[in-house]
Amino acid sequence: MNEMVELGKSLAEVRETFRGGRTRGVAWRKTQLRAIIKFLTDNEDQIFKALEQDLGKHPVEAYRDEVGVVKKSANLALNCVEKWMAPKKGHIPLLFFPSKGEVLPEPFGVVLIFASWNFPISLSLDPLIGAISAGNTVVLKPSELAPACSSFLASALPSYLDPKAIKVIEGGTDIAEQLLQEKWDKIFFTGSPQVGRIVMSAAARHLTPVTLELGGKCPTILDSLSGSSDMEVAVKRIAGAKWGACSGQACIATDYVLVERKNAYILVDLLKKIIQRFYGENLKNLKNLSKIVSKHHFDRVRKLLEDPIVAASIVHGGSVDEENLTIEPTILLDPPLDAEIMTEEIFGPLLPIISLDNIQESIEVINSRPKPLAIYAFTKNEAFKKQILTQTSSGSVTFNDVMVHFVCDTLPFGGVGQSGFGRYHGKYSFDAFSNEKAILQRSFLIELEARYPPWNDFKMQF
Ligand code: NAD
Repeated sequence: MNEMVELGKSLAEVRETFRGGRTRGVAWRKTQLRAIIKFLTDNEDQIFKALEQDLGKHPVEAYRDEVGVVKKSANLALNCVEKWMAPKKGHIPLLFFPSKGEVLPEPFGVVLIFASWNFPISLSLDPLIGAISAGNTVVLKPSELAPACSSFLASALPSYLDPKAIKVIEGGTDIAEQLLQEKWDKIFFTGSPQVGRIVMSAAARHLTPVTLELGGKCPTILDSLSGSSDMEVAVKRIAGAKWGACSGQACIATDYVLVERKNAYILVDLLKKIIQRFYGENLKNLKNLSKIVSKHHFDRVRKLLEDPIVAASIVHGGSVDEENLTIEPTILLDPPLDAEIMTEEIFGPLLPIISLDNIQESIEVINSRPKPLAIYAFTKNEAFKKQILTQTSSGSVTFNDVMVHFVCDTLPFGGVGQSGFGRYHGKYSFDAFSNEKAILQRSFLIELEARYPPWNDFKMQF
């Protein structure tokens, strides 16, 4: 009951603040963006500690994927927000002469942000930067599955940001459900397609616009590459993104690799060497590998390996450490395509390799599954690149690398179909939280009588 009263008070306050108008001004927006940068600088060690506690993330990984990414976003927004806010001239056809047209971005109002646990700092603060840049007031709910990060954000952020405009509300499903009962001007959700459906149904009641940043199975196509050094680079990039970013618990991690049969064993051998180089042998001492976030997710990933046919396809790894919630980097060769490991998002350190007679078949495999958030393809064949682009649909396609598009904030980031919809990052984040208002200014000078009744044949000629 107390929780509900507190929640009600917080919402009333952010609504009141928005109505008061101060978040619309550029000065407020810039002050908040600077405060985010200061928050990250002042609290780097505490953030690293919280990420270590929740996910066993090494500080280097934590800086690269969380602190560094968010600082970069905040700096970009700080430098560009004035330009983004400015009305853009709209082209007006001659028919309207004399007139002036503009597109004016205005804040939606009071927005709700739900974050996921795998990048608990960046997936909370990156959308927040967009919402602030666009002049909204915000309720942010970090994920309960990263409790140290959630509680740190809730306790530390209010002393940096305007506490009457930006609230961090902690909690699990019960609080999330209560928040979804409310009327919001925009909901930005990062999470699973299952919960995405719940969010969208709740939003539909008030016709609230939503951005859904969801997940799925992101494939990597590995074509034959002339030159062994290119193959080594490709495999290193695949391995780095699979195991080096939250242990495969990333929406844009490679979920499985598609490769021609003749290259499958070459790929397995190279992956084994890279794993050895990255992590050594001792599973109890995998200092550079993040842990699985919870016992529930540990069991979920472990269960994917329990099917005997799947277990028989393991060509490397497969051991698990329940005490430390770690799972060894694991490679599987040709698990059945209808096994759960190939139908569900893995979200963990297991890497199935699917071998094909011909690399062109990869397009069919991808198209037989829901549209992915990202497709990766290592190839130098321009015709094949074109085929991938024109014959598949996904949130993004990256050629010859994995995951790096996430930090390229001049490109929009988001999904399509079951991997979500809406875009963010850089200017796209500002757009995600803005209503583009069309403004047409007419003059009194010219009056076209043909637009008015009484209708007659003469007026038909216009
Ligand atoms: P999740 O859907 O379980 O949870 C996300 C958020 O929804 C949390 O804040 C949680 O409290 C809330 N929630 C959970 N159950 C709810 C309910 N019944 N009603 C209302 N709210 C509820 O997802 P997760 O486990 O945090 O994240 C994993 C998923 O997120 C994966 O599918 C992954 O691919 C996806 N993801 C996508 C992106 C992206 O940018 N597209 C980034 C990270 C993760």
